[in-house]
Amino acid sequence: MSLFGIYGSHTVEACPLNNRKSAELFYDLSKSDITKVMKKCKINKIIERYHSGLEHTLLWIVDAEDAHLIEKFCVEIGLASFHTLKIVPLSTFNEDVIPTIKRIHGL
Ligand SMILES: [Zn+2]
Repeated sequence: MSLFGIYGSHTVEACPLNNRKSAELFYDLSKSDITKVMKKCKINKIIERYHSGLEHTLLWIVDAEDAHLIEKFCVEIGLASFHTLKIVPLSTFNEDVIPTIKRIHGL
């Protein structure tokens, strides 16, 4: 399992709260079956999709195999059409961070 964060932001004007086209894209995305795109882009699972309405930001956590394919996924589902996106590999605190610092510092 490899976790990635998809960090996104959009403008106030492009916000689904204010923009019909963006709203329809999100609505359609919520109703459509994206499992084929996920499989093609080697997204094993969407862990969660967090949104901060008034900051106009999002954080999606995915279990995936390749950051370049996550980029392709974001384009294909339309997320990239009105978001600036950053894809970041993630580690978990208990399973990754703590064992690493224990190993490095001999704790
Ligand atoms: Zn917004």
